[in-house]
Order: sequence, then C-alpha cells, then structure tokens
Amino acid sequence: MSSSASSVVNGGISFWYADDGLPAVREPLPGDASADVVIVGGGYTGLWTAYYLKKAVPFLRITVLEQKFCGYGASGRNGGWLYNGIAGRDRYAKLHGHEAAVRLQRAMNDTVAEVVQVAEAEGIDADVHRGGVLEVATTPAQLARLKAFHAHELSYGEKDRELYGARETAGRIRIADAVGSTWTPHGARLHPVKLVKGLAAAVEALGVTIHESTPVTEIRPKHAVTPYGTVRAPYVLRCTEGFTASLKGQKRIWLPMNSSMIATEPLTEEQWAAIGWSGRETLGDMAHAYMYAQRTADGRIALGGRGVPYRFGSRTDNDGRTQAATVEALREILTRFFPSLAGVRIEHAWSGVLGVPRDWCATVTLDRSTGLGWAGGYVGSGVATANLAARTLRDLVQRDSGQGGRTELTDLPWVNHKVRKWEPEPFRWLGVQGMYATYRAADQRERLRPGTESSRLAKVADRVAGRH
Ligand SMILES: Cc1cc2nc3c(=O)[nH]c(=O)nc-3n(C[C@H](O)[C@H](O)[C@H](O)COP(=O)(O)OP(=O)(O)OC[C@H]3O[C@@H](n4cnc5c(N)ncnc54)[C@H](O)[C@@H]3O)c2cc1C
Repeated sequence: MSSSASSVVNGGISFWYADDGLPAVREPLPGDASADVVIVGGGYTGLWTAYYLKKAVPFLRITVLEQKFCGYGASGRNGGWLYNGIAGRDRYAKLHGHEAAVRLQRAMNDTVAEVVQVAEAEGIDADVHRGGVLEVATTPAQLARLKAFHAHELSYGEKDRELYGARETAGRIRIADAVGSTWTPHGARLHPVKLVKGLAAAVEALGVTIHESTPVTEIRPKHAVTPYGTVRAPYVLRCTEGFTASLKGQKRIWLPMNSSMIATEPLTEEQWAAIGWSGRETLGDMAHAYMYAQRTADGRIALGGRGVPYRFGSRTDNDGRTQAATVEALREILTRFFPSLAGVRIEHAWSGVLGVPRDWCATVTLDRSTGLGWAGGYVGSGVATANLAARTLRDLVQRDSGQGGRTELTDLPWVNHKVRKWEPEPFRWLGVQGMYATYRAADQRERLRPGTESSRLAKVADRVAGRH
C-alpha cells in the first residue's frame, strides 16, 4: 500500500530531527556584549568557523548568534552528501586560470577527508560511511552529459574517478533504465543533524559562547544587532546562507532556493536485496532538475530534488513544510528509479533553503576595511564546502589581525569574489520559476525522445539563469 499524503510527517524541520530528536535550545543573548569575533548563524559554516578560530587562537572571545537553534537551517535538513563538488569552479577557472581551479578542487577533495577526520577526533558519530559518490544516467542524453562530466572532472585532476557502463552500474545498484554512471571516492554519506549537533557541542566545549533564539536584525561594521542587545566585535562574520535575504540591506545578495526531501520507511532485507546499493554511495543523477539520495544508517532511502524552487520576495519556508505536489514528484522519482518500491511508505517530507548567488559561485570573503566577513552561496553543495570556507575565514581573520600571513587557503580563487545582485521582484521570481519549468520540460523531452543531444531548452535556461 502506498502512503497517502496525509500520513506523511511534513516539516518538523526534517526527518533527521525526527530521528535524532530536537535539541534543547541554548539561552538567548542577555543584553549588550562584546567579543573578538561574532558569528551570525549556527549552521556548518558558522560552527566550523568558530571551531577552527578557537583552535587556532584559544584566547579569542567568540560569540555565535543563532536565530532559532544550531542546525535549524540547511545544515539540519540536507541530503548528507559530504562530497567534493564546489559551485562555481568552472567560472573560477575562467576568471583565474585552470591551475587555480585545480587548487580549489584539490582543497575540496581534502575537505571531505578533513570533515571525516575531525568528526572522528571530536567523538562525533554522524553515521559517516565513506562509499564515494555515484551519479547515474537514465537516458541517452544524460549518458552523453555523464561522459562529458566525467572527462571534465578528470581534467581537474580527479584521476581516481571511474566511468561505468550499464552492467557495472547494475552491479552496484539496480536502477530502472540506468545506462551508465560515474563514481568518485571523494564522498561520504552522513547524518546531517548528528554532525551539526556534535559540532555545536564541540565548539561550546572549546569555550565559544553560543546564544540561540537570538535573531540578528542588522549587521554593521563591528556590530551585530539583535532585539536583545548588540554584540560589538572587530570581526562580524555572516554565516546565514539561504536566510541572508532576511537581514537588513541583504535582500538581493543570495537567492533562497528551496530543496525538498522525502524519507521512506526502513526497507526490508528483501527490498534491499532487489536494489543492491551495498556500497552506500551517495546517489545522484544527470537530469537537469537533478535528484540526490542516500541510504540511511537505519536502512531507509532519503531522496531529494527541486520542489517549488523559490518563494516570491525571497521568503523562506515554515519549519520545513513542503507542498503535497512536491512530495508526489519526489515519490515519482523514487518509484521510477526503483519500481519494486512502488508500495513503500513515505514517512517524512521536508524542505530547506540554500543560498544562490547571481553567478552561482560560492565565495568566502573578509572585507579588511570593515572587518565584515561572510561565506556561502554554495548552491546546494555546502556540506563539505562550509568546512573549507570556515578554515579559510580563520586564515583571513588571522592574517588581518596580524597573527598569520597568506596561506594556501587565502590564495584560493573563490576568496573575496564579487558578484552582482539578483534582479528585483517580480523578475527574480519569474526568472527562477521559468528556469525550473524549463529544466523539467527538458528532462521530460529527453525521456520521451531519446537522443544523445541535451535538450536545447536546458541550455537556454542555463544562459538565462547565469549558470554558464
Ligand atoms: C534540502 C537540502 C538538501 C541539501 N543537500 C545537500 C547535500 O546532500 N550535500 C551538500 O553538500 N549540500 C547540501 N545542501 C546544502 C547544504 O546543506 C548547505 O549548503 C549548508 O548546510 C549551508 O550551511 P550554512 O551554515 O552556511 O547555512 P545554514 O545551515 O542554512 O545555517 C544558517 C544558520 O543561520 C541562522 N540564521 C539565519 N538568519 C539569521 C539571523 N538573522 N540571525 C541569526 N541567525 C540566523 C539559521 O537559523 C541557520 O541555522 C542541501 C540543502 C538543502 C536545503
């Protein structure tokens, strides 16, 4: 029996919280305060930044201000793909040369290992499984893109990436219509909430102050303003990613893009035997409106994709609630991939926001004249990237405060990248809706009219969106 839409738990932040429990919320800011560094936002970016800064300079007084609780945003809702993708690499290659982009890619490869290693060292059990990343093609057009993608990744030095045909793919995972796949070892599956909770506890244990239920309404040089008081600090680091538009003066910097997920009930041994997937690779496809999935530690499939991509006026969701139509669209992908799961119960659905800059390039910045810094715009590839951003912010702050110099990280091409703002409404809304409607139409066309040529529609959407 398939589950009716009403039996699905919808929202509640995410399945990961239903699984691991909501945290006790820390005390809000009691009044005006001062610090050496104030970090706005308690997701992976903010917490990793606090972690590395405090480790590097133990006497630093660091305060994290979080509007709800650490992990309330994408860091507590994502697909748990810890992998080496970084948004904007190709553009950085164009702007700074191929070699600079190869350095960025290498740093991302190392970052996957860094997160796994630090989590281990800090005693954070985040259900990490280092099975790599498997991306599959299910149409001839997707296969052509997959091969091009594979070759492209090799050109950035990823010598250990592999390309599989239909039979080798089926040996790993049995997906209906899979015609090929590419696999990289630079990825791991994890439980997002276990990581973010563990990280918050580790940061606090180091002596960082965390105030939750404390929304920052405005960031100015040396000031983070909240309804309960202002924290003054030489460095104010904005780590609010998809929520950035809610800050005064930041409305058009990063567009909050929705991503939605579903989690099935735990599958039976027989169901897993029919599917395979014993390598527990994180799984994605080559559709224009792509899907991503993981096999969870407790034997479910958690699968995500684009639902309603964007809400008018850069609004964000309500505690992760997602539309019934999106839940159905994700279930359709699940059963298209795994027809034997047609009757499986969907237990949970949720959504979250990620930050998209106008040029789709992630960045990490410290403005030396104001002490304001930020990192984000990861466009859905932030689980690992947030860690690289945090170590880079650490180096930038240390250099600026005279405690360090240039480092390999401060020289990476995404540092201090500038981007123009998004268009005002209604153009922003129209553009994003149009882009995703076009991607879906292109995917549909490629499924119905198999040919190896990618639909021209998708190329037009890419150009309009500023992705290429
Ligand atoms: C559904 C979904 C699936 C995803 N899957 C993957 C994946 O599998 N792999 C991957 O690499 N990436 C994935 N991503 C992206 C990834 O989760 C994010 O890029 C990453 O978590 C961003 O971390 P962050 O700390 O920068 O932002 P967030 O985790 O969003 O944290 C920002 C924090 O700032 C707080 N905040 C916001 N505004 C204020 C304010 N004014 N005052 C105080 N606090 C504030 C928020 O409450 C939040 O806790 C996914 C994203 C979503 C939404």
